Amino acid sequence: MMAVNRLGWCRAMAVAAALLGVAPAVAAEEPIEIFDAHLHYNWEPKPLYQLKEVLELFKKNRVTGILATSRPNIGTHALMDAKKDGLWVVPFIRPYRIRADIQTWFNDPASLDLIQDEFKRGYYRGIGEFHLTGKAAATDWVKKTVDFAVAHDLYLHAHADDEAVEILMGQNPRAKIIWAHTGFGLASDRVSDMLTKYPQLWGELSYRSGITGAGGKLTPEWRALFERYPDRFLLGSDTWINERWVSYSDIMAGYRGWLAQLPPAIATQIAHGNARRLFAAN
Ligand SMILES: [Zn+2]
Repeated sequence: MMAVNRLGWCRAMAVAAALLGVAPAVAAEEPIEIFDAHLHYNWEPKPLYQLKEVLELFKKNRVTGILATSRPNIGTHALMDAKKDGLWVVPFIRPYRIRADIQTWFNDPASLDLIQDEFKRGYYRGIGEFHLTGKAAATDWVKKTVDFAVAHDLYLHAHADDEAVEILMGQNPRAKIIWAHTGFGLASDRVSDMLTKYPQLWGELSYRSGITGAGGKLTPEWRALFERYPDRFLLGSDTWINERWVSYSDIMAGYRGWLAQLPPAIATQIAHGNARRLFAAN
């Protein structure tokens, strides 16, 4: 009896949906595809999740592309070697051997050796994520790194404050920079000025504060930024510690929560369209 009633109800809904020109509720929409533009698959000495588990996690979250880095770079090699259907891996060279290199790489000739050596694999699209604060960016070794990137059409993935980003751009105005965390808590007006001043700067939004306020609602200033620069933002998980892997699904759900408040065309650009355009093969 129940079954008959439910079936009748479903038919009625389907007819109503067809009349309204919308898909029946049973054909639930798939969540928006995400390109994760800040992914570390660190291997120190082993990753938290095996490769198979990581690939399943991407699939479960409908993450169809990743900007992949790893310390050391063997995690990235593993992701590339997996050649997983439905996952586009865009590999970047991490200039670090060990975690402590974060503090010294910009004055260490060994970093550039590492980058040049790793580059020989032939598949890399960028260098990073690397860390720079203020005038630490103003070294010969950083300039050589920036010049190497420009010479080989590589993006830079910079965890840097606005001062360091300006120094990098000054070292070589042809640099293309993915700005990890988009300045963290930097005022949105200043972010806007940076995007205007540097057309080859794109903001990656992990750990970026101020995007949402009470109840997960998009703030007016960030809505305005997304509407003004829909082609300049990327999403990222930043799995720099195991906790980020454990909360990976929550991080992606958090992004989808505010993406849903944007016009669909803008949400699509930020979720995956911008990354697809940036990293499309020439
Ligand atoms: Zn990171």
